[in-house]
Amino acid sequence: MLYYSTNRQITGVPLEEAVVKGLADDRGLFMPEHIPVLPAEFFDRIDTLSFQEMARTVAEAFFGEDVEADALRHIVDDTLAFDVPLVHIHNNIYSLELYHGPTLAFKDVGARFMSRLLAYFIRRRGQRQVNVLVATSGDTGSAVANGFLGVEGIHVYVLYPKGLVSPIQECQFATLGRNITAIEVDGTFDDCQRMVKAAFLDPELAHRLCLTSANSINVARFLPQSFYYFHAYAQLKRISSAQAANLVVCVPSGNFGNLTAGLFARRMGLPVKRFIAANNRNDVFLEYLRTGTYRPRPSVATIANAMDVGDPSNFARILDLYDRSHAAICADISGARYTDEQIAAAIRACLDATGYQLDPHGACGYQALVDGLAPGETGIFLETAHPAKFRDTVERITGCPVPVPPRLQAFMQGTKQSVPLQNDFEALKRYLLEAS
Ligand SMILES: *Cc1c(COP(=O)(O)O)cnc(C)c1O
Repeated sequence: MLYYSTNRQITGVPLEEAVVKGLADDRGLFMPEHIPVLPAEFFDRIDTLSFQEMARTVAEAFFGEDVEADALRHIVDDTLAFDVPLVHIHNNIYSLELYHGPTLAFKDVGARFMSRLLAYFIRRRGQRQVNVLVATSGDTGSAVANGFLGVEGIHVYVLYPKGLVSPIQECQFATLGRNITAIEVDGTFDDCQRMVKAAFLDPELAHRLCLTSANSINVARFLPQSFYYFHAYAQLKRISSAQAANLVVCVPSGNFGNLTAGLFARRMGLPVKRFIAANNRNDVFLEYLRTGTYRPRPSVATIANAMDVGDPSNFARILDLYDRSHAAICADISGARYTDEQIAAAIRACLDATGYQLDPHGACGYQALVDGLAPGETGIFLETAHPAKFRDTVERITGCPVPVPPRLQAFMQGTKQSVPLQNDFEALKRYLLEAS
């Protein structure tokens, strides 16, 4: 399968190049040249398949031409080494719990898949070490670091702003050691991002270090996120085929990679009736749906902070998928937005009524289904992170303790091994040249 850029200046790019580059040379996002439609027979028996089995079929459709069958199967099985259960909340609302992976958030799926695919390409080329550089404001660093942990031939450098990520987030990438180096920059997230971008543009570093990015716009991070939409549908079908026939999926959205993967699943034939994009106060997408005009603006801070995005990068993919037709987008996707007060109220209401503990992101998704389902429809919202990742916020809202899962506790017992660094690109460059 070949890939083209959403800016349409670049076409015919092989998967390997799209993965290593991340972003196309014309600054657009890579899209597969076609979206394979799976046979009706696959959907007829989908409820008899395991998560791995159905994910192998989906992966084969996208990556089968570019990755040997055995290797691809191994990558899929290894990526999905944890469950993604569908949990009934009440009436016609279900939660798809995407937080049972190593860092307790859905980004584990894409990060694990990408790291294994990259390692496969490195082995195939007989290449020496590749270095992955990533800047994080918290969650991306942990998913990427853990996705790549122990993967041979790859070293990861995570740049993060000193004192500006939560202690839970920090211990998820700064205590790992091995092939993961956490670099604590005396600056802000924007400084970290600027230094990473400068590193990619530096010819000496590019040449000596074989740098690559693990940005969330990478096709190898976003396409595998379609796997769990199939698994959600299959689990619902097992419970009730009547409910599965009227399925609405609600996605708490920031950069819209997760929702875009759902749209791809639907194009592959998955019978989802429609999608709802749930936002916090950063609602440029909702405004686009209402007005037809897309006006990016600076993000505002909310308690669902992984969705604090003012210019969602995957918007370009959605536009491309629908040939830029506002009407066609509105026919498939509706929107909702919630203030911090409304998110807090949703967390309390759901806990009181059902005993189910939401995190602030999933709470937007849950509430959008409560508000937006029509009679006869069944809704699944994606529960994108474990509430313990936002423990202080959630405990403040509910007054009830949030138990911390053992694997999160294990991170918190590790020793921080960060490398302190000045807020200066030349310092980063010197460090990387010495370390590698
Ligand atoms: C990244 C993230 C989101 C937003 O996902 P996008 O694919 O960027 O829309 C939502 N919730 C949590 C917990 C996240 O970490």
